Amino acid sequence: MLMSEQDKMRLREKLLDQRQEIFEQYQRFEFDLQALGERDIEMEDEAQKADEISLLDQLVERDMDKLEEIDLALFRIAAGNYGTCESCLKPISLERLEALPASRLCRMCARKYDEKLKKLPRAWEIITRAELPDEYKNLGNKELQMVILENIRNDGRIDLNELEIYCRSGVVYLEGGVPNENERQILIRLLSDVMGLASIIDHLKIRELMWGQEDLSPAGETAVLGTGEYSAYNIDKISDDVIESEEKEILYDFPDRPPAEKE
Ligand SMILES: [Zn+2]
Repeated sequence: MLMSEQDKMRLREKLLDQRQEIFEQYQRFEFDLQALGERDIEMEDEAQKADEISLLDQLVERDMDKLEEIDLALFRIAAGNYGTCESCLKPISLERLEALPASRLCRMCARKYDEKLKKLPRAWEIITRAELPDEYKNLGNKELQMVILENIRNDGRIDLNELEIYCRSGVVYLEGGVPNENERQILIRLLSDVMGLASIIDHLKIRELMWGQEDLSPAGETAVLGTGEYSAYNIDKISDDVIESEEKEILYDFPDRPPAEKE
């Protein structure tokens, strides 16, 4: 059975929430680590600090994998082939997707992979596999971004106010928000069908939905979605930070540190 647009939209929201959760977790860890660094370090604290740092290392790797898988799912939603098992190419059950919206295999194949300890290709290998159309091949990231923005402006149907577009190695990242689902669909079609861009990672929030949620729970959602915090934590930023810090052994330099407490 084919997945309905509504199911797809709901699962997409779930994926975006999971992604947001990972970023928030990092903020908390960053804060803990900072607090630990500011304390006078005694012998037992040294051990605790080492523990906490190695825990953070593991988290970074596991969460980077998780983020990649979420992005792969968002990529597939934009490309129109979300919910298909990568191994047997049959649809993954809606039940399974509800529980694990980023799952890449149906239940049967997942079991087979588990038993044989087989691994799927990394998400980023799949996402960057698609090539740019000839006319855009020689453009740099910034140039491609400009061309895309020009196309959107010429089209005239999409509100650019809160939309942010980043390009990296032929992959187009959509960040920020658009006013409604219809504009999101128009944008995806413009990029994929008209411009022929195959690799789109769609992190767009629907502002209409966000407002709807605020109406229902004014205290809950506002802090997370209403401050523009979301765009500050886009994937570009976070993967740069994490990758760089791994290379140079510098600890995680997040853009918005919690302010230092005043004595
Ligand atoms: Zn399968």
